[in-house]
Amino acid sequence: MLSCDQCGSRQFIALGTLGTLEHFRCQSCGWDDAIAIDRDNCVACDSCEWTGTHADLNDVADLWERVDEDGPEPDGECPDCGALAYRQAPEAAG
Ligand SMILES: [Zn+2]
Ligand SMILES: [Zn+2]
Repeated sequence: MLSCDQCGSRQFIALGTLGTLEHFRCQSCGWDDAIAIDRDNCVACDSCEWTGTHADLNDVADLWERVDEDGPEPDGECPDCGALAYRQAPEAAG
């Protein structure tokens, strides 16, 4: 459960999403933070700047005609431009 680093309150206002981050503000002290939305589901477009979650993606039409046989399997289609989008590797240390 999310709790404020400053005052420990668990009363947060959701301020909206920024790409793959969800932005919250503490109702007690005003401290704000952005936390990653379900990191395992973060995906990014191969072609444009779009990032989001797996649930935002469209199904890939003609999947096997569009990917390299040995290449990574796309998670879906970018809702912005229709290019293939791929799951993001968890951030490596360093
Ligand atoms: Zn607080
Ligand atoms: Zn795109």
